[in-house]
Order: sequence, then C-alpha cells, then structure tokens
Amino acid sequence: MSFEKSKVYFGSVQHGKIALFASFAAKVEKITEILINQTEIEEKDKIAIKMHLGYYDGYQTIPVFFVRRIVEALKKTGGYPFITDNPTAVYNAVNRGYTQETCGCPIIPIAGVKDGYTTPVEINFRGFDSLEMGGVLKDADVLVDLSHAKGHGACGYGGAIKNLALGGYSGSTRWRKIHGVAQIDKYWDKEKGSPEHAKKLVDACPYGALHYNEEKGDLIRNYHNCRQCFTCLEIDHDIGAVKLPKESYTAFQEMMAISTKKVLETFKPKKVFYLNFLIQITTFCDCMGMGQPSIINDIGVLGSKDIIAIETATLDLIKKEGIIEKNIPPYFKDVNLNPNEDLHPFTRLHGPYKDPYESVRFLEKMGVGNSNYELIEILAPEETAEMKPPKMEFEGEPTFF
Ligand code: SF4
Repeated sequence: MSFEKSKVYFGSVQHGKIALFASFAAKVEKITEILINQTEIEEKDKIAIKMHLGYYDGYQTIPVFFVRRIVEALKKTGGYPFITDNPTAVYNAVNRGYTQETCGCPIIPIAGVKDGYTTPVEINFRGFDSLEMGGVLKDADVLVDLSHAKGHGACGYGGAIKNLALGGYSGSTRWRKIHGVAQIDKYWDKEKGSPEHAKKLVDACPYGALHYNEEKGDLIRNYHNCRQCFTCLEIDHDIGAVKLPKESYTAFQEMMAISTKKVLETFKPKKVFYLNFLIQITTFCDCMGMGQPSIINDIGVLGSKDIIAIETATLDLIKKEGIIEKNIPPYFKDVNLNPNEDLHPFTRLHGPYKDPYESVRFLEKMGVGNSNYELIEILAPEETAEMKPPKMEFEGEPTFF
C-alpha cells in the first residue's frame, strides 16, 4: 500500500434538493466527465466499455439510461466507444433493453461471434500455462471498466476486478481454467470413502454443493454453491475422506487477480478508468439470470483511475451499509449475523473462506493500484441543499421537450 492516496469520486443516490442538478444522473455525468478529463483519449481511439450485460431474466444490471449518458460523454472526446461482453450476453442483451439504438454505440462480443477470437496470455499458475483473452480487448485503445457491484457465489463479491477477470476471457477459459482452478487441490480420497459414504455426504449438504460421479468414484464439490457450513467435514470426521482446503477458495481469487492484471497490461494506465454502480446490490452475480431482492441498500456510484482504490472503497461502503436481513435468501440457513464479529456482509452471506477483499489484496500485491484512497463526494446532499436552483419555468402546455 502506498502512502499517497488514490482518488475515488463518489456520487450518492441521496439528493439534497428536488432539482435536476442534485440528481443521481447529474452525479454520474459529473464523475464520468472528471474521469474522461484524466484519461488520455485521442481522436478515433476505439473505446471498449466492458460491461456485464446480464443473462436471461437478470435485469439488475447497470440501467441503460446511465450507459447511454456515459457513451454520449465518451463520444465527445472524438473516440469511438463500443460495449463488449461475452457472445451470449451480447446476443440476448436486447431482452434486457441494451441495443445499439438505446445505448448509442455498437455492442460487440468480446471474443467474436463463436467465442474463438482470442489472444493467449501467458500465466504460470497451478498448472495453467495460458488464458485465452478476448481479442476485442487487444484491439481497443481505451478501456472503461463499467461494473455493477454485487455479491458472488464463488468469491463473495463481483465488481471491477470480476468484470475483467472473468468477463474479459472466452467461455472455455472462464469455466475450465479460471473457475476450474478451485478443483486442483484434492479433496476426496476414494480409497477411504465408499460410494455409500459419498452419497450420504451428497444428501447431507444443505446447499446441493456436492455431486457423486459413480463411474469415476469421484465426489465433486461445486465451490460456487458451497457456503462452508462444514457439515460434510463433521459427517466425515471418523473416516477422513473429505477435505475443505481454504487454498482452493483463495486460488480462484488469486487467479482472478492474475487474469485482471493480464487484461490491464494490454492498455496504458493513462487510457483506463473505472466506474462501479452500487445499486441493486444482490446476493448473487448478474450471471444467475434471475431477479433477486437487494441485499444492501442502494449507495451510489464510484469512479476512479485506480482499480484497487475503487474496489476497496466499494467494499468499504457496502460494509458500512450492512445487510438487509429480511432479504437474505430463505435457504441460507446459517448466516453469521453476530454484530460482535467484524465480518463483511458478503463474507456473512457466502462463508468464511470467501473474503471479498482477497482478490483486491492479490492484485495490489502484484503492483496494480493502491488500497489507500481518498473518497471525494461529488454534489453531496449537504452541498446541493445549499445550491440555488435555476429559475423554473413550467410549461404552459404539453410539449415533447
Ligand atoms: S461445507 Fe457445507 S456447503 Fe460446503 S460442501 Fe460441505 S456440506 Fe456442502
């Protein structure tokens, strides 16, 4: 962590006055303008706006209303913005309101229409040599990492890092390598555990996180669904066939830090900025393809030139806000709500091995960004409450404008 503080601009959803200049949209515009002014965008630069456009019925992504404003602001630089995400999300984005007409710019699949337009990036992590990064990222000159902050089953939290770490790669890399890294540590000893024992464990897991492959004699854990309730370890206590290695959970977060760093290495730091929307913050990620109640109250928008600073500030603000207890999914039986334990809401929800700060720490250790930040509030409610509104003139008759 550097002693120098990185700037994080914050716009609250709260307003100080009923006036357009005090609205959340005005804050999004102002923060976007500040960041564009701090970013080196040349005429005709191709500007990739990396978003998560959701899936099926998952409508709680960044509203197209804000996306269009950001796109319009970027166009004024003389650059050519386009939105990019995985091919499936791009293809059915129209169902969630994202089209070239509504967003104001093209929407391009990050790795081509067949998910095969990729560029290999070398890594050397837990037996994986390389990852297939979306070729469109390599083609772009400028990157806007436009993210929706929410919970995530596999790592507790999804925001600016997750948007690049998983969303920046082809489907096979995303699932087989980045998610697949959690499966590297051995956690089932078939010599010790009989098929009957395995089936008993499968039936006992309250979250359906275990599956038994009879043909191979393998017990398979879905790390996304596992909430580390330790029931399987308790049942297995006298047999010793099962392990729950914490390293498998953190390996996924370290892999996300590595894949994010590789995306960022393809851009000059001066040509990147980050926006996180802290609204409709749900328990699970936008990939779930379904609506969920907000688990944290709406907070606002954050913008920064530093991915570590924005992610740290996002998580800190979410922690300060706290869980809306009545919106915890009813099948989450063992959420630790003890106020005497200093836990992040996403750790309470997704389990002790899914610390949402973990991937941020890994990425900071790799020299990308600084967790020491200064939060600068833009158009704070206290400030707008004192501002004089322009003289309002009411329309005498209905108009289209
Ligand atoms: S720790 Fe709990 S949730 Fe995870 S696999 Fe074991 S029983 Fe299932």
